[in-house]
Amino acid sequence: MLLTDEQIIKLKETWVRYPYVNDSCIGCSACIAISSDVFTMNDEWKSEVLSLESYENLGVDDSIMACPVESIKWLD
Ligand code: SF4
Repeated sequence: MLLTDEQIIKLKETWVRYPYVNDSCIGCSACIAISSDVFTMNDEWKSEVLSLESYENLGVDDSIMACPVESIKWLD
């Protein structure tokens, strides 16, 4: 299940930081190869964030470093 706008609002209320993928994603799959627990590819070949309780220690920082177009950022 993907992270919905409602869930993002809830995460903001609980101060849980979460990764966000912007529209510049080129669908290279690097983030998914590193952290398939967090990222998945949608039908438009853009990475999307899965719905999780926490995103800590799941390779998000490594995915941010690996993204060739700097599409992934932490939000809180
Ligand atoms: S690493 Fe970056 S460009 Fe590649 S799929 Fe993930 S978000 Fe998209």
